[in-house]
Amino acid sequence: MAYQYPFPWRGGPFHLSQGANGQYSHYGPKNRYAMDIAMPEGTPIIAARGGVVVKTENHQTGRGTDPSGNFVRVLHDDGTMGVYLHLKKGSVCVHEGQRVAVGSALALSGNTGNSSGPHLHFVVQRNTGMGLVSIPYRFNQPVGALPNFALGM
Ligand SMILES: [Zn+2]
Repeated sequence: MAYQYPFPWRGGPFHLSQGANGQYSHYGPKNRYAMDIAMPEGTPIIAARGGVVVKTENHQTGRGTDPSGNFVRVLHDDGTMGVYLHLKKGSVCVHEGQRVAVGSALALSGNTGNSSGPHLHFVVQRNTGMGLVSIPYRFNQPVGALPNFALGM
């Protein structure tokens, strides 16, 4: 059975602001199955699955130069990766090469990079050799949906 992800944050309840295949920015191979969860900046972000931190970015301010903003990328033991985007500047508290367990603190949520409001963009990817592709994933409990304010609906 496929791994079911616990929520990668503490607190809430928070709501989905853009789901898989979202028309605002969840298209294309790398992010098709991403989910955006609206939450106040400074919400603790925790690992939804154990693994090894393979890449972090912690110095971007505002929209910055990278659409991902500040982020943490964790390589899981099955070869998939969990990526936590748009994190608050200076809040990333893990380093590359560090092993993390489910529930380990990673950073605080933010609004950096190509982000239309404070939220966490969480995506699971696999490196196919041709590049990164987003793969579908499921949380272990329902996450409420909000109208997609990015589309003005
Ligand atoms: Zn997103």
